[in-house]
Amino acid sequence: MYRKIVVKLGTGVLTKGTRFLNQPQMVELTRQIAALHHQNKELIVCSSGAQAAGRARLRFPELPTTLSSRQMLAAVGQSRLMLLWERFFEIYSIHVGQILLTRADTENRQRFLNVRDTFNALLEHQIVPIVNENDAVVVDEIKVGDNDNLSALVAVLTSADLLLMLTDQEGLFTADPRTDPNAQLIPEVQTIDDSLRALAGNTPSNLGIGGMSTKLQAADIACRAGTDVVIANGSAPDVILRAVSGEKVGTRFPAQEAPLENRKRWILAGPAPSGHLLVDAGAAKALRHHGNSLLPVGITTVQGEFERGDAVYVKEKNGPNLARGITRYSSADLNLIRGCQSHEISERLGYDYGQVALHRNDMILLE
Ligand code: GLU
Repeated sequence: MYRKIVVKLGTGVLTKGTRFLNQPQMVELTRQIAALHHQNKELIVCSSGAQAAGRARLRFPELPTTLSSRQMLAAVGQSRLMLLWERFFEIYSIHVGQILLTRADTENRQRFLNVRDTFNALLEHQIVPIVNENDAVVVDEIKVGDNDNLSALVAVLTSADLLLMLTDQEGLFTADPRTDPNAQLIPEVQTIDDSLRALAGNTPSNLGIGGMSTKLQAADIACRAGTDVVIANGSAPDVILRAVSGEKVGTRFPAQEAPLENRKRWILAGPAPSGHLLVDAGAAKALRHHGNSLLPVGITTVQGEFERGDAVYVKEKNGPNLARGITRYSSADLNLIRGCQSHEISERLGYDYGQVALHRNDMILLE
């Protein structure tokens, strides 16, 4: 049913809720991944657990809660993590390759394509890529921040058919199952809306970074790019095999029927938006219903500082984000030309990069 699959393994799954990587659990997950690999499917593993492994390896040192402590733990733990994956995949005669990413590696389209080539090269040679964030060097400005969003980025990069996020819970529930006995598993989600986000916001997983809310963000990105998503319990028997064969397990999010074309996938998953353009009702309507580009005349407020070519969100004042796109003008320029007719741009700036602030082809509607 599915051919290219990203399997995201959270820290809670790899440790089974303890302070140590659980090797029998890792072998069991490897067994399932290997079985699919031997059916000629393409598997990509997104593995958390570097910092947890580093902490255990160093025997739980007392450390200040600084960035450099976390970087140190990740540096120690990442090699430990890979050592174990190497060893376990070796049982099944499968080679693995390590890919460590940061947001900066996909920030511009060329780098995004380069990373995609690396994945393709590994997959063409039947090597299983094992991905994590490059926590040893990452700083706030360039990090994805959680492996849920990282796994969505990987699904987008590789045009995966399925993103399987394995966690320590059965899936998404109508309430927090640990505190509410009436909580029910939601088997399928057609649309990720604000009420669902509010629900997920209240049910964090206490292991690793990603709770349910980052899982929803990730599912939203992957579904828009044309990837089915399943959130399921990593300890359930044969969970990977069952999810990949299409069996009902956990919570499933079917991909959108008309997936975005390649460049728009990059806009969705690559660069982190660094500002907001607030637009008037007329411009919002033109974007929403008429497929128009955004003109400076419709922009009322520019929030944040950004350069030409950066990603920004578009929204109405007090509204949710309406679109995400690549701006043709910097925030400084837009502050000078917002509210202007297009022919006035060059008068105000002394130059122009065209009449539109955000071109339709560089923009994705988020509603
Ligand atoms: N990259 C982190 C690690 O391997 C995990 C981040 C997450 O769990 O979302 O330790």
